[in-house]
Amino acid sequence: MKTAIITGASKGIGAAIALRLNELGYNLVLNYRSNTISMEELINNFPNKETKNVTVQCDISNYEDAKKLIDEAYDNFGTVDVLINNAGITKDNILPMMSEEEFDQVIETNLKGTFNCCRHISKRMLKQKYGRIVNISSVVGLAGNAGQVNYAASKAGVIGMTKSMARELGKKNVLVNAVAPGFIQTEMTDKIPDDIKNEMMKNIPLQKLGQPSDIADAVEFLISEKASYITGQVLSVNGGYYM
Ligand code: NAP
Repeated sequence: MKTAIITGASKGIGAAIALRLNELGYNLVLNYRSNTISMEELINNFPNKETKNVTVQCDISNYEDAKKLIDEAYDNFGTVDVLINNAGITKDNILPMMSEEEFDQVIETNLKGTFNCCRHISKRMLKQKYGRIVNISSVVGLAGNAGQVNYAASKAGVIGMTKSMARELGKKNVLVNAVAPGFIQTEMTDKIPDDIKNEMMKNIPLQKLGQPSDIADAVEFLISEKASYITGQVLSVNGGYYM
């Protein structure tokens, strides 16, 4: 039975990935920061009851917390096949109004959090000569977005890091890829005002927001044996919003 770690699994895209990996028969180490109730609800509703699930509540932007997450996964399961770096936040503001704190918090969670988890798992994956890492970036990291200077920087950084890690770890069969979602219906995008959403919709050829399960589909492919010759890539799942 394979094992996967998913960060930010209590809701949205992370929860959809967790559900999919449960259906695929993975043992799961599920990280979240604050939302214990929705984390428990998700696990209670898992269709596959044959697998083992461990939850680790911690802040992945903290280097030691991230180490604890990885250590706990290996303590429980001995080996980990897959790491999905999904936890992320937004703190939107236009540049002249953006505070240092808004910039730092987004970089710390989205970029440093991804580094922290990859850093701590890398030695172990190299040693086991197998690993699949998928980092959740964003269309905003590719195209930029007004009001999201901090978020765009963090998600573009994730892409640079993904490619560099793929170059370092490939020789030991550790594959590192990114998924760049477009606008996906979650609490994160629920915060966007309707007029802005309607405006965005005009630029999406498929004329709808994506669903968290669309991202789970991409992740399922990238961690499957069908993707065993793919590393250092960014798979866009955005309804054609950015090509
Ligand atoms: P969401 O619904 O807001 O969920 C975010 C998840 O991340 C929650 O489980 C949250 O945990 C967790 N989290 C946040 N900060 C954390 C931290 N420091 N340590 C551990 N966990 C933390 O977001 P989402 O829309 O599903 O987004 C998931 C990922 O996809 C993010 O990286 C986001 O940037 C990316 N993305 C989303 C979209 C979109 O349209 N939704 C588009 C492109 C990329 P708690 O709730 O327990 O605090």
